[in-house]
Amino acid sequence: MATNGSDMPPGAELPPQAVAEDSDEDICVICFCPKENPLTLGCQHSFCLVCIEFITSESEAERCPVCRKRFNISKVLAKSRK
Ligand SMILES: [Zn+2]
Ligand SMILES: [Zn+2]
Repeated sequence: MATNGSDMPPGAELPPQAVAEDSDEDICVICFCPKENPLTLGCQHSFCLVCIEFITSESEAERCPVCRKRFNISKVLAKSRK
């Protein structure tokens, strides 16, 4: 059996496609998960509500973990409430 044929169809090679990665997707940089109850700080960075509560309970300084800008958690919470 000397069949020299290959099963590869011609032109099956796909060009390497750049995966468009949306780094600004709804991923919280604290837990690296899709944001749950997203909360947006004054600096326009947003995180999960639980993550914000976590970092604010960890330290006195309420700072954005991304840009280190200070924020007022009670203000942010009040703003997010309808
Ligand atoms: Zn989170
Ligand atoms: Zn920020």
